[in-house]
Amino acid sequence: MTTTNSFSLQIRDDNVGVITMDIAGESMNVLKAAFADEISQLLSDIKANSQLKGLVFISGKPDSFIAGADISMLDGCKTAEEAQAIGRMGQQMFDQLEQLPIPLVAAIHGPCLGGGLELAMACHARVATSDSKTVLGLPEVQLGLLPGSGGTQRLPKLVGLQKALDMILTGKQLRAAQAKKAGLVDEVVPNSILLDAAVKLALKGKPKREPVKLNLVGKVLERTPFGRNILFSQARKQTLSKTQGNYPAPLKILDVIKTGVDSGMQAGLAAEAKAFGELCMTKESAALRSLFFATTQMKKETGAGETKPNKVRKAAVLGGGLMGGGIANVTATKAGIAVRIKDINEQGISNALKYSYSLLEKKFNRRFISKAEMQKQLLLITGTTDYSGFHDADIVVEAVFEDLALKQQMVADIEQHCSENTIFASNTSSLPIKQIAAKAQRPENVIGLHYFSPVDKMPLVEVIAHEGTSAQTIATTVAFARKQGKTPIVVKDGAGFYVNRILALYMNEAANVLLEGEPVEKIDKALVKFGFPVGPVTLLDEVGIDVGAKISPILTQELGERFSAPAAFDKLLADGRKGKKSEKGFYRYGKTAKKGKKQVDDSVYSVLGVTPAPRLNSDEISSRCVVQMLNEAVRCLEEGIIASARDGDIGAIFGIGFPPFLGGPFRYIDQLGADKLVAQLRNLESRFGSRFAPAHLLVQMAEQQQRFYP
Ligand code: NAD
Repeated sequence: MTTTNSFSLQIRDDNVGVITMDIAGESMNVLKAAFADEISQLLSDIKANSQLKGLVFISGKPDSFIAGADISMLDGCKTAEEAQAIGRMGQQMFDQLEQLPIPLVAAIHGPCLGGGLELAMACHARVATSDSKTVLGLPEVQLGLLPGSGGTQRLPKLVGLQKALDMILTGKQLRAAQAKKAGLVDEVVPNSILLDAAVKLALKGKPKREPVKLNLVGKVLERTPFGRNILFSQARKQTLSKTQGNYPAPLKILDVIKTGVDSGMQAGLAAEAKAFGELCMTKESAALRSLFFATTQMKKETGAGETKPNKVRKAAVLGGGLMGGGIANVTATKAGIAVRIKDINEQGISNALKYSYSLLEKKFNRRFISKAEMQKQLLLITGTTDYSGFHDADIVVEAVFEDLALKQQMVADIEQHCSENTIFASNTSSLPIKQIAAKAQRPENVIGLHYFSPVDKMPLVEVIAHEGTSAQTIATTVAFARKQGKTPIVVKDGAGFYVNRILALYMNEAANVLLEGEPVEKIDKALVKFGFPVGPVTLLDEVGIDVGAKISPILTQELGERFSAPAAFDKLLADGRKGKKSEKGFYRYGKTAKKGKKQVDDSVYSVLGVTPAPRLNSDEISSRCVVQMLNEAVRCLEEGIIASARDGDIGAIFGIGFPPFLGGPFRYIDQLGADKLVAQLRNLESRFGSRFAPAHLLVQMAEQQQRFYP
């Protein structure tokens, strides 16, 4: 038996060697630079043993194969060449494995991502467990990078060019059944027989790889130079329209894969290492990596210092509407916690149940979950029109109508029907939590837990503690949200909390620009080009013009005139325009809309009393809206609404879709320079008035030439 720090090699009686990887002190295996030497040592022992018939590579961790490479090693790189050398080292390590004369089989259970999948692809065959924890993918693009250890070259050979492009350009992860269908794994087995199956496969010898099965169109597109040119130019076009040219990594990925396909593996690997080095040095990758570190760091925080969360065994939701249905869904499907929904009528419950059913059915149809998993998750959600089954709920999330008296009544009901430790978490979007807790007998149990719509997709929640909320309630709520797959930020109680507050000013400015005569689609395009997933006018149609109109006076009263929505907007509501839900808004919906094309409903201009007359360019439009968001984010930090610039960045990216490649409002201000932003705000203030007055903290930072991050 050979052992190194992270690997051990054990030879079985049937002369199959089992390499077990187990990094001490870590819950998951991650690839580190030091492995190159360890693997070399292992390989020299393997080569010296002429009896060996095959090898199996398996993880010693209970639930992870290899979750990726340790990207913190990139932060030490000062030049592209240094980063390129790291890529090269990985490539060489995996080349050595691939060139072994005996078969090497990867036995995969748990996440097999990034460098982990690159290692598995260098093996001669792969067996994966059918467990839901087993996922395979190359997520490097999400960090502004590309798979730098042969992944861009080996994946197309295994799954075909189109599938490989899709996986590497999006970073999407496949479950074992999907990976088998794609040709990425050879067998899918239960975890209990993983090792046996891998050994059997190793004893069969190196498998002969047939070319990927393709239909006629696929063959033309992938196997002829003419077809490939079309394929790559289409992929480039789609990528540019999706990224607006803001992300360099996808374009490099296309170039590198094309080099490999056109000029062979060696040329492809050289291009891969070079591009990897260059991407490491981009500001986009630096921002995306910092975001990754920030979220990893946040996962370790309880939100309440040393206080440990209580276990949530059962949850309940009040209101089975749009939000309640979504909250129940993530509680059952992500957290695996039983959840009871109460609504005032059967319809509310049946809507919520149908909602979860339709989401799960989609996952089942895409082979993401089995029928048994789908049924198990559905059984976790039950409904009631009274409080039966509430007595043992550890947390109740309230998502009834936005009405203070109703929410206070809900607090009283829960205090009556649940235990004295049950947490009451309100999903209010605008009411201060302190008011909801005002009549509570146990205000320490009352907290805000603000989700974003659609709940199953939006990653952020704001956890809002009022002054009397206990540390225990905060810690348990944060842990509960995390189990639901959310990224929680703890914010201070105050109108609009953080996310809606910075969003409101940004939307208001878009409205001002519109009323000055800029066309709707031009405003939306400008902000999509800037990097937002949708433009502000589209967003207003989605959220509901009536919802915006309801929140605006609350924010104006609590925070000042800069929040008051332009008066002309009342005309929209008077005209019955609530946005998408009423099929009447800024854009056309329903029967008046053309399929597949978003069209502005031109009658909106006459309702607002404006004549479209474009004067501003795209950058002028986007910067006017964005600086409002940046300035308000700084005010929130100044007032302690958010605890740190990091929380503000995470909140804006995960709650609103602030462009991740900019790293969030605070990292972006650092990039712009506080002094430049102040100058820009002062200039706008002189033209448009006090709504552009720079935040005190920003002015102070500009004067002292400070940054939010070191
Ligand atoms: P909704 O109208 O879709 O659903 C509300 C549900 O509550 C309805 O099914 C209704 O029957 C039920 N209900 C009313 N009174 C009840 C009672 N006494 N007991 C049990 N159920 C009751 O509303 P929604 O959009 O889901 O919003 C719910 C809450 O979430 C509001 O406070 C809203 O401000 C907040 N919120 C909404 C969004 C959003 O995008 N819609 C985002 C964040 C927060």
